[in-house]
Amino acid sequence: MHITDSHNHLHFREYKDDFNEVMNKSFASGVDTMLLVGIDPEDSLDAQHKAQLFDGLYSSIGIHPQKADLYTYDDVQALAVLASNQKVIAVGETGFDLFRTPGSIARQEVLFLAHMDLAKDLGLPLIIHDRDAHIETIACLDEKSGWDSGGVFHCFSGDVALARKVLDHGFFISIPGVVTYKNASRLREVVRFCPLEMLLVETDAPYLSPVPYRGKRNDPSYIRQTLQEVARLKMVSLEEAARSTTYNFQKLFLKKAPGKGLPEQSDVKERDAKKIGS
Ligand SMILES: [Zn+2]
Ligand SMILES: [Zn+2]
Repeated sequence: MHITDSHNHLHFREYKDDFNEVMNKSFASGVDTMLLVGIDPEDSLDAQHKAQLFDGLYSSIGIHPQKADLYTYDDVQALAVLASNQKVIAVGETGFDLFRTPGSIARQEVLFLAHMDLAKDLGLPLIIHDRDAHIETIACLDEKSGWDSGGVFHCFSGDVALARKVLDHGFFISIPGVVTYKNASRLREVVRFCPLEMLLVETDAPYLSPVPYRGKRNDPSYIRQTLQEVARLKMVSLEEAARSTTYNFQKLFLKKAPGKGLPEQSDVKERDAKKIGS
């Protein structure tokens, strides 16, 4: 079984002592593709370095909205130099966090707009972080035609109405371990509503460990709990849920990046190209 963790931070210092062990544990559990998400310039470079170490690891470039006070529009633009690396496949995480840092909303908006411009320039999809900021996030994407780049709402925390809006614009929805929590009935409803073809799963490790690991440091191998719950809600097998979410990840992140696709993906492209030519 091939499982994909669409969003984690395995390059964080929480794993500095046992990164290789965690990776081996992840591979042994079937998680062989993952996206290491950057939260500031230095951190994006760390993610990129770690992504070089194993096949199936990718990274993103971005500045987290919680850090909006520390950076400018130009700092986001400067991340473009990292994008020449083959493993860099997305822009973000970006968006709004009005839960932890409500005071910097104006600056968060400037940075979000900068990420949208960067994503367009580079032809890469967006990783959206939306915490307590559904209205602001949607408004900003509407205003700047940010939807055009494609992307994912990571750690989706909205209701079915928001999910519908996100899906209407062709964005994917990524489900975290929260879906296993007792009080997460709204998220479970979103999973039931959302077509399997538009779902991704993620750990957001080191945060948000699923039950029964809640409160402990998260790691990619725990994504099986999340996947199991998604499979149950979609009434498919674990294998089918793993296969679909992996395919969706490839479709979103690896098809959009020329030359960065997995072998199967470039085969598909070649076949498509031939079809057009003939
Ligand atoms: Zn986030
Ligand atoms: Zn994150």
